[in-house]
Amino acid sequence: MDLNRWLGEATQAVQDWSADFGPYEPHLALKVTDEAFAPVFADFTDRLRDNYPFFHPRYAGQMLKPPHPAAVVGYLTAMLINPNNHALDGGPATARMEREAVAQLAAMFGFDTHLGHLTTSGTIANLEALFVARESHPGKGVAYSAEAHYTHGRMCGVLGMEGHAVPADDAGRIDLLALEQVLGTGRVGTVVLTVGTTGLGAIDPVHRALPLCRRYGARVHVDAAYGGFFTLLAGADGPEALAPEPWRAVADCDSVVIDPHKHGLQPYGCGAVVFRDPEVGRFYLHDSPYTYFTSTELHLGEISLECSRAGAAAAALWLTFQLLPPTPQGLGRVLAAGRRAALRWAELIDASDLLTLYQQPELDIVSYFPAVEPAVLSAVDHASARILSDGMTARDAVFVSTLRASADAFARRHPKIDRDTDGARILRSVLMKPESEHHVEQLHTAVERLI
Ligand SMILES: *Cc1c(COP(=O)(O)O)cnc(C)c1O
Repeated sequence: MDLNRWLGEATQAVQDWSADFGPYEPHLALKVTDEAFAPVFADFTDRLRDNYPFFHPRYAGQMLKPPHPAAVVGYLTAMLINPNNHALDGGPATARMEREAVAQLAAMFGFDTHLGHLTTSGTIANLEALFVARESHPGKGVAYSAEAHYTHGRMCGVLGMEGHAVPADDAGRIDLLALEQVLGTGRVGTVVLTVGTTGLGAIDPVHRALPLCRRYGARVHVDAAYGGFFTLLAGADGPEALAPEPWRAVADCDSVVIDPHKHGLQPYGCGAVVFRDPEVGRFYLHDSPYTYFTSTELHLGEISLECSRAGAAAAALWLTFQLLPPTPQGLGRVLAAGRRAALRWAELIDASDLLTLYQQPELDIVSYFPAVEPAVLSAVDHASARILSDGMTARDAVFVSTLRASADAFARRHPKIDRDTDGARILRSVLMKPESEHHVEQLHTAVERLI
C-alpha cells in the first residue's frame, strides 16, 4: 500500500467528517504558518536521524520495528479525531473497535469467554493481571520464573505482594520441581508463566505447570507479551511449527497478556490483558464525579486501571486485523518467516567455527557468542560487547544486542568455557521482521567478519 496516498486520504476523510458540523474559525493563538513550521520541521527531522534502522533487516537487535503501514494510517486517521477509549463517550467508534480486536485476541488464545482491553503497554497489562490476582487471592504472593520479565518483581512491589522468583531449567524455562516447592509453602496464590521469555524466547511448559498450580489452588497468569502471537504457529506445518501443548493450555489459564506493539505490527502504546472469567470486572468498580458513562453498555474505563487511553491505538490494531488477522494465514505468516530466519541462523552458527549457539531458538530470538581464546567467560563478555559496538559503526553495519547470562546458566549449557567471572554478556538477535528470512546469510557473514 502507498503510505503517502493513504495519509492524504486520511486527512481528507477526517476533514469531510468535520465539515458535517459546519464551519468555524480556528483561534489565532494556535496559528502557525508554513513559513514558521518549515525550519522547525527540518530541524526536527534532522534530529530524528539519530536513530537505529529498526526497519532494515541489518537491524537484528532488540524487539523493535516500525508498525505496518495499515497501523500507521489507522493510528493517524483516528488521532486526528483523538478519541479517548476510557468511555464510549470518549469515542464510540474506537471503543467498539477495541472490543472487536480484543475479542480476536481472546479467540486466538482459545478463550470461550473473556473480558479484556488494550493497555498502554505489557507492563501495565501485567500490572492489571496481578492486581486482579491480588483481589482474588488476598494475602498471597506471586511466583514467576527467574527468567520472567523484570517488571513482575517490580509490580509485586507496587501492589504490596510478595514475589517469588523460581529458578529456570537448562533451557530457560520455569523449573517445575522448584515451582512445586514454592507452591508447597502455601504463600503463593498466583503463578505467572511466560510463553516466550524476553531474553531467550523460552516457553514455560504451561500444559505441565497448569495442573500443578491447580492442585495448590493457584491462579495462573500467562505473560505472552512477547511470545503471544506465536500461538499461530502451534501445530503448524513446516519447519516453523511449534509444539502445540503449551499454547493450547493457555486457553485454560486465568489471564493472558500480549503486546500488539511487539509482534502485532503496532506502534508503541498497545498492550492487552484478557481475563477468561468476565466476573473479574467487579474488582475494578469505581465511581467518580467526572466520569461520564452515559449508557449502560460496557465502558472500557469500567474494566481498566488506566483512565485515558488512545482510541487511535485501538483503531490501528483493528484496521491491521482487518487485513492481517491474528490467524495462521494472516499474522501467522509474518511470525513464521521470523521463526524460519531464526532456525536458519542457528544452523549457520552451529556450522561456524567463529560463533557458538548459546541455546537452540524456541521462537525468533537467536542467542550466540563468539569463539574466544582463552576460552573463559570474561573473554566471551568482552568480545560480545565489542561486536555489539563495532557492528554499529562498521561500514557494513549490523545491529545486534547483548544479553547477560549468569555463570551458572552459562556453565549448564557450555561447561567447557571456564568461569572466571560471575557472568557474561552474550549476543542476542531478535528476528522479528519477516524480511530477516532473506537476510540471514548476510547477517551471519557480517557478524563473523567482526570477530
Ligand atoms: C516486553 C515484555 C514485557 C513488558 O512489556 P512492555 O510493553 O515493554 O511494557 C513483559 N513481559 C514480557 C515477556 C515481555 O517480553
